[in-house]
Amino acid sequence: MQTQFNLTQNDIPKQWYNIQADLPQPLPPTLHPLTMQPAGPADMEPLFPMELILQEVSQERYIDIPSEVRDIYALYRPTPLMRAVRLEKALGTPAKIFYKYEGASPCGSHKANTAIAQAFFNKAAGITKLSTETGAGQWGSALAMATRFFDMECKVYMVRVSYEQKPYRRSVMQLFGASVTPSPSNETESGRGILASDPDCPGTLGMAISEACEVAIKNVDTKYSLGSVLNHVLMHQTVIGEETLMQLDMAGVEADVVIGCVGGGSNFGGIALPFLRNNLRDGAKTRLVGVEPMACPTMTKGLYAFDYGDTAKMAPIVKMHTLGHDFVPPRIHAGGLRYHGVAPILALGHHLGLIDAIAVHQVPTFEAAALFAHSEGIIPAPESAHAIRAAIDEALDAKAKEEERVIVFNLSGHGFLDLGSYDAYLGGRLEDYAYPEELIRTSLQKLPQVTL
Ligand SMILES: *Cc1c(COP(=O)(O)O)cnc(C)c1O
Repeated sequence: MQTQFNLTQNDIPKQWYNIQADLPQPLPPTLHPLTMQPAGPADMEPLFPMELILQEVSQERYIDIPSEVRDIYALYRPTPLMRAVRLEKALGTPAKIFYKYEGASPCGSHKANTAIAQAFFNKAAGITKLSTETGAGQWGSALAMATRFFDMECKVYMVRVSYEQKPYRRSVMQLFGASVTPSPSNETESGRGILASDPDCPGTLGMAISEACEVAIKNVDTKYSLGSVLNHVLMHQTVIGEETLMQLDMAGVEADVVIGCVGGGSNFGGIALPFLRNNLRDGAKTRLVGVEPMACPTMTKGLYAFDYGDTAKMAPIVKMHTLGHDFVPPRIHAGGLRYHGVAPILALGHHLGLIDAIAVHQVPTFEAAALFAHSEGIIPAPESAHAIRAAIDEALDAKAKEEERVIVFNLSGHGFLDLGSYDAYLGGRLEDYAYPEELIRTSLQKLPQVTL
């Protein structure tokens, strides 16, 4: 039975898909963090090059991928679409399970898709240095690689707990020439402020974002780069969904359900948005399911409201499902899913009922990862394992209902640098965190009071 659906280099998409052209209502405006009024392109210029700002607000349905970017994509794209026949057998399900394997990228996750594009557009604007944050380290690795390809400098603020727990991620970034600092740090005003009140602060993504933004705002040769959440980031990731559509065509099937894990929302948006286009424009009826950790249940339990993108209130205010900008989620092993908000595009889609969301616990997620590894041989990133959990549950549901169902999920990355988490799983040291209701309630009281 055919299990691999491979495209050729010529099939690498030539355009990114911009869902803004097809959303039933426009996205709410992005607000300036100080004035709380709609931000124009000029307000965002200290952080991003103009080309990316224009992509952020573009209403064009398709945007050309520069040939320089496609040439680098060709190092690992198109990525394979696999049919998980052995997993289907293990589950005894009549469903067909397919996964798109973004772990095939050099740094092991989908994040290279936007890192390469962002480095290119910054370089073209004359920028010589990018600053960014990283949680688990995948984004920092991808941006370190991309800036190396374009001979740029890279400054990474890495959440302190991860810096200490994941030394090899740090080595990857440093090998590519990036400078890596644990956050909060003494290098920035916002970092010093946090350390003054809490010298042992373990850090959060929101804090690291504040430090990276500050460096970009204070240096003309430096811009800030974000690995998820923003419209242009989700757009760069649509190469995943466009390839998947072609590959399902080769397999002669149509997807009933498309699944991805959700941190900031970029890998799920990347696979799901081209399917959402077909739902909106061609009457397709693919169900789209984002999967979150129960410990940080942004779409399933958060409020759809305006909130800051970071802890120090320096990043723009956007309307999204949020748990509050100073919410510190429990230390689950899927570090890449611990962001307090979610991409405004997914938030609006969920708000309008176009996108479903579910939350899953940590232990059953690792059980799903183990079953996947036993049948398909790939050790998934703990983040991606959330999508696997949901795909397996779909397949078991199809079995109970004796239904044929085509299930597609995005395997956003491999887990070879997450073996510490698997050690904890094997040693029985993983716990399920209850949904942190009290923490979230307190944090949600601090949303900005926006009057538009
Ligand atoms: C960063 C990361 C995620 C979460 O980020 P999204 O923007 O939601 O995709 C998921 N999986 C992997 C492997 C990651 O590196």
